[in-house]
Amino acid sequence: TRWVYTFGNGAAEGRASDVDILGGKGANLAEMASLGLPVPPGLTIVTQACTWFYENGRTLPADLKLQVQQGLRAMEDMTGRRFGDKRQPLLLSVRSGSRASMPGMMDTVLNLGLNDETVQALGHDAGDARFAWDSYRRFIQMYGAVVLGLDHEVFEEILEDEKARFGHEYDTELSAVEWQHVISLYKATIEEELGEPFPQDPNVQLWRAVAAVFASWQNARASIYRRLHNIPEAWGTAVNIQAMVFGNLGNGSATGVAFTRNPSTGESELYGEFLVNAQGEDVVAGIRTPQSITEAARIASGSDKPSLEKLMPEAFAEFRAICTRLETHYRDVQDVEFTIERGKLWMLQTRAGKRTAKAAMRIAVDMALERLISEDEAVARIEPASLDQLLHPTIDPRFDRTVIGSGLPASPGAATGEIVFTSEQAVEAESEGRKVILVRIETSPEDIHGMHAAEGILTTRGGMTSHAAVVARGMGIPCVTGAGTMRVDLRGEKLIGLGGLTLEKGDIITIDGSSGQVLKGEVPMLQPELSGDFGRIMEWADRARRMTVRTNADTPQDARAARSFGAEGIGLCRTEHMFFEGDRIHVMREMILAEGEEGRRAALAKLLPMQRSDFAALFTIMHGLPVTIRMLDPPLHEFLPKSDAEIAEVALAMGMEPSLLRQRVDALHEFNPMLGHRGCRLAISYPEIAEMQARAIFEAAVDAARETGAPVVPEIMVPLVGLRSELDYVKGCIDRVASDVMAEAGMRIDYLVGTMIELPRAALRAHIIAEAAEFFSFGTNDLTQTTFGISRDDASAFLTTYQRKGIIEHDPFISLDFDGVGELIRIAAERGRRTRNDMKLGICGEHGGDPASIHFCEEIGLDYVSCSPFRVPIARLAAAQAAI
Ligand code: PEP
Ligand code: MG
Repeated sequence: TRWVYTFGNGAAEGRASDVDILGGKGANLAEMASLGLPVPPGLTIVTQACTWFYENGRTLPADLKLQVQQGLRAMEDMTGRRFGDKRQPLLLSVRSGSRASMPGMMDTVLNLGLNDETVQALGHDAGDARFAWDSYRRFIQMYGAVVLGLDHEVFEEILEDEKARFGHEYDTELSAVEWQHVISLYKATIEEELGEPFPQDPNVQLWRAVAAVFASWQNARASIYRRLHNIPEAWGTAVNIQAMVFGNLGNGSATGVAFTRNPSTGESELYGEFLVNAQGEDVVAGIRTPQSITEAARIASGSDKPSLEKLMPEAFAEFRAICTRLETHYRDVQDVEFTIERGKLWMLQTRAGKRTAKAAMRIAVDMALERLISEDEAVARIEPASLDQLLHPTIDPRFDRTVIGSGLPASPGAATGEIVFTSEQAVEAESEGRKVILVRIETSPEDIHGMHAAEGILTTRGGMTSHAAVVARGMGIPCVTGAGTMRVDLRGEKLIGLGGLTLEKGDIITIDGSSGQVLKGEVPMLQPELSGDFGRIMEWADRARRMTVRTNADTPQDARAARSFGAEGIGLCRTEHMFFEGDRIHVMREMILAEGEEGRRAALAKLLPMQRSDFAALFTIMHGLPVTIRMLDPPLHEFLPKSDAEIAEVALAMGMEPSLLRQRVDALHEFNPMLGHRGCRLAISYPEIAEMQARAIFEAAVDAARETGAPVVPEIMVPLVGLRSELDYVKGCIDRVASDVMAEAGMRIDYLVGTMIELPRAALRAHIIAEAAEFFSFGTNDLTQTTFGISRDDASAFLTTYQRKGIIEHDPFISLDFDGVGELIRIAAERGRRTRNDMKLGICGEHGGDPASIHFCEEIGLDYVSCSPFRVPIARLAAAQAAI
């Protein structure tokens, strides 16, 4: 087996594309060496050796030793030094480096090969005894912690005590003799703790260090990081063994890190920090304050410590040229580490630089304008989900957060406010100019005014498609749902968080709808900035994509917001949501609770003008763009009054005995409302509802067409169809009303009648349903619910457990289940088009705003995706990336 790849002196056995074998660091060291850049010679032990290590009881393969020894010989020849030599010793760094970057998670040992003899030789050879002893103590400290497993605090304490005793502030002030003294204390401590002396044999040191780096792949830190970032356990880490170069060789030496562009703003300027007379870990450890690399950054920071540019102009010039070269070569921002040893520059690492969403945007645009990358590449480089950061206020990451609970990230953005427990309290507080977070167990249509008044919404129950989540997303209000670790005590007006922490009404909390966290108190925020770069990327994305992006909008407000985000029509107007506003809920309840057709018709007559004016507004705002209006689909439990007080109120409004109303509510009670009397079933039981809605739509179309002069072509959608006959029946009502209205108005209106595909039966019978339906829109919320048989409102309680236990990878209500639900969509699209080949196909479930799901939609050739207004830019970008 080939375990080792070497590099150095302008050549390398591996290259940048070998990340899987060499890990990120190893692959890029090889690449830099091949480019002829100054890289200390070294070798990389492949990631498969790590796998072997774990498969064989944490041992190393026998033939690895020989290969490493051969590699070491080559390094010795290139440096003119010998490992363990008593005159000119070669010292080594031993570093981890996995396929995915896992910053600081695994271990590193520097200055390996030092012992009581080689330290003397090193000092003599460099003509600097202090440097040699400083390196030796660093080695013992690191080796002691990483390989011998001692607490690094033990060494820190000794060092602090001795520094105080010698009267020094900084490590750099210790003399050779003083370091020797510290070292003797280190060694004594190790012997005391472990019962054996610090190992003097460089080969023993090396092999134990290699094993320790492999072992660090499974330390707790790294395991947690991997789980959080979905990095497979099986990948393993490579080990890089490299000749040491010394940034701690006096004041002509330094070490630092830099980004080729500013990683937080994206500005095209070298950005970084360094320390004189130091080794890499000092920069990270923050013992001394690092200095700016460029003079411009130094001036900007107001520091009086000289920049690298001033201090070591030659090394700086070379460094800057290398940074430019690396950026051009990799065609992306690089994050580099370097060391300057007595004026000579060495590159120790390069990798793609992590950046904020804002910086990513700027860098992509700049690089496209510089012709370093194409416009398509620029579009492809922006993580669609990161646009959330740009469209909403976000929590400033520079400040600490006190997490008191967490739930699902239901609607992005962060918000701060006083806790209130009822919508009335929210409205009242808002009218007094106070900002509130509405905290509920779950929300219902009655809470709409409270939700509107609130800065953010927190529920302890419900999933990503619960009432609170869907409505909040539509409104663009931050929302966390299903915060099961928290408890609401409505009677006592208390919110009980992690560890029993109890908050009262009026206490301030912050919710982060992008992460699902709930935080105590007020937290500093960053405001959204839709800079010119954002617009540029969107323009390029729009040019690249094939699918159209529509929005799910229920109100004129939503529609306007969505237009400003670039929506190209409405893919779903949930008409039942139009009744959440103001007094309309009462009329809606009257309609639902009406005893017979007559009562229902009376309530419907009141609803008609409201619907008509809303629809007319939507048509006008969309000005000729397609508008899909869905017939009423209210899961009844969302609309029924529950408490005695609510019943009394509705009874009063309806002029009905509360006890009678209670009976009526009880009669309407369903055990499984999501599978109950909703969708087209309601229109079939009570066709007068469908008739009223159709009339409102057609009359609005007439009004809007007259007003705007642009033709309006309503797309009317029938929900929850499973049988063709269901659609036929409802379509019959719609067609009848259409001809009535056209006759009354003396005007022809073109319109389409289509259906949602949100039940498995509908998907399987799509070819038959397509005979009656002129378009399909995939309702993937219900399709997921009914395919899995998992209630969308109750799923969060156990789906998080499923995820934790690895039963499922992700929540299928957030990102489409390609294998099951996706298969049904594929079948329906194919069968539907077989019957009607020009049939328009879209998706309007929450998945329409999820990048991975959007890729799937592109793959199977849907015509459009529809998502909540604030996700429209994300969908535009994701649709473009899917098409590129
Ligand atoms: C769906 O089921 O995916 C859908 C869009 O409809 P609703 O969420 O209103 O049930
Ligand atoms: Mg549905």
